[in-house]
Amino acid sequence: MTEKSPISNRTDVQWPLCHTPWPNHAAIEARVEALLAKMSIAQKVGQMMQPEIQHITPAEVGSFHIGAVLNGGGSFPNNNKQASVSDWLTLADAYYRASMAADSDRLPIPVIWGADAVHGHNNVYGATIFPHNIGLGAAGDSELVLDIAKATAREVAATGIDWSFAPTLAVVQDLRWGRCYESYGCLPDTVADYASVMVNGLQGEGVEAFTRAEHVIATAKHFVGEGGTQKGIDQGDNVCSEETLRDIHAAGYFAALRAGVQTVMASFSSWQGSKIHGHYYLLTDVLKRQIGFDGFVVSDWNGFKQVEPSNHLGCGVAINAGVDMIMCPEDWRALIEITIEQIAAGEIAEERIDDAVRRILRVKMRVGAFDKGKPSERLGRQGEQLLGHREHRALARRAARESLVLLKNERRLLPLKPRQRVLVAGSGADNIGQQCGGWTLTWQGTMNQNKDFPEASSIWTGIRERVISAGGSVELEQSGKYSQRPDVAIVVFGELPYAEGEGDRTHLSHSADSNQDLCLLQSLKADGIPVVSVFLTGRPLWVNPEINLSQAFVVAWLPGSEGRGIADVLFLNPDGSQAYDFAGRLPLPWPDGAMQADWPAQSGEPASVFATGFGLSYKDDGGGPAAQNLTELDIVSERPRTDSLRIYVRRPIPPYELFVGEEGQWRQTVDAVQATSVQGAVEVKIVDNARQGDALAVKWRREGQIYFQSIQPQDFSGLQNSGAAMHFKLRVDSAPQGSVVLRMDSQYPASASFDLTESLCAQPREHWKDWQIPLSELAVNGLDYAQVRTPFLIWADAPCGLSFGEVYLQAGP
Ligand code: BGC
Ligand code: BGC
Repeated sequence: MTEKSPISNRTDVQWPLCHTPWPNHAAIEARVEALLAKMSIAQKVGQMMQPEIQHITPAEVGSFHIGAVLNGGGSFPNNNKQASVSDWLTLADAYYRASMAADSDRLPIPVIWGADAVHGHNNVYGATIFPHNIGLGAAGDSELVLDIAKATAREVAATGIDWSFAPTLAVVQDLRWGRCYESYGCLPDTVADYASVMVNGLQGEGVEAFTRAEHVIATAKHFVGEGGTQKGIDQGDNVCSEETLRDIHAAGYFAALRAGVQTVMASFSSWQGSKIHGHYYLLTDVLKRQIGFDGFVVSDWNGFKQVEPSNHLGCGVAINAGVDMIMCPEDWRALIEITIEQIAAGEIAEERIDDAVRRILRVKMRVGAFDKGKPSERLGRQGEQLLGHREHRALARRAARESLVLLKNERRLLPLKPRQRVLVAGSGADNIGQQCGGWTLTWQGTMNQNKDFPEASSIWTGIRERVISAGGSVELEQSGKYSQRPDVAIVVFGELPYAEGEGDRTHLSHSADSNQDLCLLQSLKADGIPVVSVFLTGRPLWVNPEINLSQAFVVAWLPGSEGRGIADVLFLNPDGSQAYDFAGRLPLPWPDGAMQADWPAQSGEPASVFATGFGLSYKDDGGGPAAQNLTELDIVSERPRTDSLRIYVRRPIPPYELFVGEEGQWRQTVDAVQATSVQGAVEVKIVDNARQGDALAVKWRREGQIYFQSIQPQDFSGLQNSGAAMHFKLRVDSAPQGSVVLRMDSQYPASASFDLTESLCAQPREHWKDWQIPLSELAVNGLDYAQVRTPFLIWADAPCGLSFGEVYLQAGP
């Protein structure tokens, strides 16, 4: 996208000054100036770069004078999903040591490491995972949020990381937006209130607290207006007036800045058609001059690319607009070179570079980075114990409890007596990955299994413990097919994990996407079994039919690693007393229709079945709007396309998951960005083709397979009859030395296949090709199109290297 820059058009709108005075300001500024005066252009430009840990070594951090590094979602030291605290510290120490080594052309300037600790230290194995922000918005408890921020800071610091890319201060105005759950809700006051406690908890309150080892730098993100983009499209355009931008969308920034937040991340979105990453007026005139922000502005992941002329590598437009630090996961080497050239050519003023570096050094000095010593020594011995600490888990459990919102409690079904026969059903019941959502161990929160969460508990675990200890009986059956008739069923279901734009929706109907849950509720209702629904979700969805089929309906949002918090509230104590009541209230409106998704700021709320602030408690008589049957007639005017079916588009599309297999072990879940089958026959790695992480590179050493599979069989007969074809992009990395077969299975050996060998041998190496294979060309060997579980499998019997992506089925013309 081309962008004219700088955009500077001062307006009459006044923005408030939110400057935080620093008592030792003059001393720090003098130190900053003295250091800046000694720095070469290369050293200055290096300070402005933030590469990703997979793409830069400690030695390079030293020799290129790099200012910061980050680990993206799902990126770990040594690519090891189970990396331990000491693995993180070892890498942090190595980067730090390299940055502090001085010689004739190097100045010791500590590198800082940033990570997305957006609901706890969520990229780290064994960390405490707190509810996503939307759940904290429902809890409405700023003391709780302050404690969460402190606990998160301790866990981040324990791994040697200096800086968290949190809190998100979006004021969400559209339920279709994929990042809804990263927002505290639709009320600017809630966001502002939490913004200051989050910053206080992460960075410490008061200037001297900033330098303490258990605190980390916070980020106010993403500046500004991303919660109000049209149609809720992620990275889209917010066309609101400047007053609305200030009064609604910026509310959290004023509070965060007053609390002393040291960094602000620019938003991928646009305001009135112009991308924020190139917006001089907003980043420089408003944020730095009028609001008085004197920390540094960091770009979002490759955000600088969105404002350069197409095909131009460089980050001059973003720098000139006011971005001080460039988050450039991979291209840092070229960017340093190009930026130095642009400075020499006068395209970027040296004063701008000095201003950016001054801000970065200022922040590093304020937080004591120069004096803190190496990461592994900061917290001493106790550091190792802080990750997933018992007290932090207790806090997360409390947060899960407090965030629950009760929408319906007919005939006071809740609280439940634990001493009865309980059935637990639904895909979310024993699924810690689902209850944590996106930004958990992997970027999208997909590819996780319960074993990835040591010490954590699923919702089922909590229910089982309660019931068993009280002498009741309990059965877990995802499908709801019980063996003994239960007195009550608890059904846990909802959205499957996603992050960012992958979570954008065109409508809000849950059952239009997947009617499995509805069928389950219907069958329990038909059997006359009272149902408590526990809904896992990143946002309100239209679930009137599901609510009508439930006697009690609880919204659990994305509660995190401590699933026990749910049973805490649903059940009475064994002695019949009540331990906890429902405390959560809706932080945004609950829609009364699948298309009631937005409420443009200041125009009031849409017609809702439950308004913002709604939430029952045990004191209520079970009445409220949901006591009567809710209307179920709803036309989803933009129904999901049923003429196509996505299987892998940047990630396995639920219900599909990715597996590899080989002789002896044909089914092995792939749960990280890189995986190898047990005996090493097949190796797979997530790589980039056109977009971030949109392709899989697979290497066969001998016979083995890679495939997508769902637990429940899916009905493809409609597609088959419409003349559908399988679409995918594929690149041959190394020519097949044996055969390669594409297969679709209902239940192997019932399958249909297509021999790819010849065409692959003919396809030029290293070239992406769009493949389209009509289903009618598959050789059918007993495949039942109404019961497909494995829609896409590639099998090879000898060494071969293939990359593929964008796998979907599309109906015929
Ligand atoms: C997200 C940011 C995040 C960054 C680093 C981006 O894609 O928008 O919220 O901080 O990546 O992972
Ligand atoms: C990274 C995320 C980042 C995203 C941006 C992913 O591969 O893991 O941290 O936000 O790319 O596209």
